[in-house]
Amino acid sequence: QSTLKSTSKDAYPDWKAGEPVPYAALCTTFSKIELTTKRLEIMAHCSAFMRQVARLTPEDLQPTVLLMIGKLAADYAGIELGIGESLIMKAIGETTGRNLKIIKEDQQKIGDLGLVAAKSRQNQPTMFKPKPLTVRGVHEGLMKIATVEGQGSQGRKVDGIKKLLSAADTNLAKGQTVDITKDKGGPSEAKYIIRALEGKMRLGLADKTVQVSLAHAMVFHAVSQESNKVPSEAELKKGEEVFKAVYNELPAYEVIVPALLKGGIWKLREACRLQPGVPLKPMLAKPTKSIGEVLDRFEGKDFTCEYKYDGERAQIHFVAHDADQDFVATAAPEAGKTERGVSNIFSRNSEDLSKKYPDILGKLPTWVKKGTKSFVLDCETVAWDVEKKTVLPFQQLMTRKRKDVKAEDIKVKVCVFAFDLLYLNGEAVVNKPFRERRDLMYSAFEEVEGEFTFAKFGNTREIEEIQTLLEDSVKASCEGLMVKMLDGVESHYEPSRRSQNWLKVKKDYLAGAGDSLDLVVLGAYYGKGKRTSVYGAFHLACYNPNSEMYETVCNIGTGFSEALLAELHETLSPLVIDRPKPFYDHSSGKNDQPDVWFEPRFVWEVKTADLTLSPRYRAAASEVGDGTHKGVSLRFPRFIQVREDKKPDDATSSRQVAEMYRKQESVGKNKGPAVDDDF
Ligand code: ATP
Repeated sequence: QSTLKSTSKDAYPDWKAGEPVPYAALCTTFSKIELTTKRLEIMAHCSAFMRQVARLTPEDLQPTVLLMIGKLAADYAGIELGIGESLIMKAIGETTGRNLKIIKEDQQKIGDLGLVAAKSRQNQPTMFKPKPLTVRGVHEGLMKIATVEGQGSQGRKVDGIKKLLSAADTNLAKGQTVDITKDKGGPSEAKYIIRALEGKMRLGLADKTVQVSLAHAMVFHAVSQESNKVPSEAELKKGEEVFKAVYNELPAYEVIVPALLKGGIWKLREACRLQPGVPLKPMLAKPTKSIGEVLDRFEGKDFTCEYKYDGERAQIHFVAHDADQDFVATAAPEAGKTERGVSNIFSRNSEDLSKKYPDILGKLPTWVKKGTKSFVLDCETVAWDVEKKTVLPFQQLMTRKRKDVKAEDIKVKVCVFAFDLLYLNGEAVVNKPFRERRDLMYSAFEEVEGEFTFAKFGNTREIEEIQTLLEDSVKASCEGLMVKMLDGVESHYEPSRRSQNWLKVKKDYLAGAGDSLDLVVLGAYYGKGKRTSVYGAFHLACYNPNSEMYETVCNIGTGFSEALLAELHETLSPLVIDRPKPFYDHSSGKNDQPDVWFEPRFVWEVKTADLTLSPRYRAAASEVGDGTHKGVSLRFPRFIQVREDKKPDDATSSRQVAEMYRKQESVGKNKGPAVDDDF
């Protein structure tokens, strides 16, 4: 309803058709969004703004959407911000002529660099008004900052930031000031530029909301052009569904927005289908505690139990030279070109891995059958022992360099284990039953020992047979089983979902240890006794993608060797910051502060005995908190390994933490007190 109500007026009056979208207009919208927590209101602001862009300056719709979600390009392009605090402070100082010491003091007091920049700008006497920033100009400026490389790149980044900041308007009338402690800095352009640079917009604007708003805006556009009316709720819903289906298969605004502008929302499904070159967000699995639970969930249905290989998720894309289609140019690096065609490998978070796995891409022609002209394949790459012809542990794989690997220097060999097919010969197959997809996969590729193998599986409903499969998988150095539906709609491939239709049974669950968590390192404590020269314990957090906050979940001091502690001290020390970031949700208790805080950079895998509620931690507090501001915390956490393949935002989510907690609650396990500081 509220989406409809707020449609009559333009979100921002002062821009004319065809003019570049003023950045100030976007900031005004950001500010309105920030001032409310109501999802419908947020969506109304967002959609009204996009409607205005689509009507007045459609060519700016793409940078507008990207700045709204706080990104510069699709994930596969690998362009990221997340600029360190010291560079940003330097740029604020140099732009505003304020002493770095004062900037640092402000940061100590205020704790939010965006506000420090806003304050510095508003106190700065300006001789003349700078030329107004535009949305496309800011997008371009940020892009330059994110992509400079090589010698002197730090200095050029600072220059880029200065350029944007010095043009940033405070959006204030003459003599007007904003009390940054009360109204969060208002629509200050400087504030939002800094947030974009930090990589966290924190508007409470979830990606899903932006998607729905964009769909609504385009439905409005279509309906008003046709009949000069406003759309019905049913039309808006239909537009949402079209958009969602397309985005799931093709999560790239660079492809979707031009198609929307060309053919409108109702032709989007035809115009945009899954295509090799644009990685999908992979389907993920739900944990289960026992084979019994699997049988309960899949009762009466046919399912299959595959080995769960312990390596790195890899989505392999390919188009043969003689195919009737193109590989989307943006994601086709030189690394993936062979005599057969163009190929690429993407990680679970859509990172381009082709420079990590030139060996896989080089061998690809040996396992792709002649008639296979294009495909997208879901696989796991696993370290391979050439002599023993067996798989090696995940740690071995992580010793490989992630970039610019030369095939001749490779020491750790990998084998590809394929388990699903998403696209074949010009057609998306995600909406076919898994049984069919698997048959197609077997028909399109052939196994080559040590290079390419299909994931082992057994189709059975017998508990003893499943137990045997599980034991065999563990003997074969796998993590356990992935149990998947075989038939019907439930067995379709569900991109970007942690689905009930894929269940994982890990060997560890059976021993009662539970699933591990992947957590972000936010802070550390200096060691005691033998450990005085290094950090002895660490402060960890999960990630809440809705609020864009890291929520603290435990302190950890167990599972580290002395050598590892020394190494961690070395890698973490350069990341020390003066105070926690505004997007760290942590206890304010005096005794709960780590000795040092870090920029968020590393993800660690951690095991826990169980989960409990504690006032000292904030994880999932909004979901499970009982009004006493308690969050979930881990009891007896133990360090397992660094997850090089995950970025901070890929950490275990607050929702997953809440699910783990509730699950164990329901089996009455959560009796113990919070024992989270075992150091
Ligand atoms: P984990 O730490 O268990 O890998 P995750 O969050 O990375 O957690 P999950 O959904 O828990 O992902 O487990 C699925 C992962 O297991 C996939 O991302 C994939 O990398 C891996 N995997 C190994 N074998 C298979 C298989 N046969 N089918 C699907 N995924 C598999």
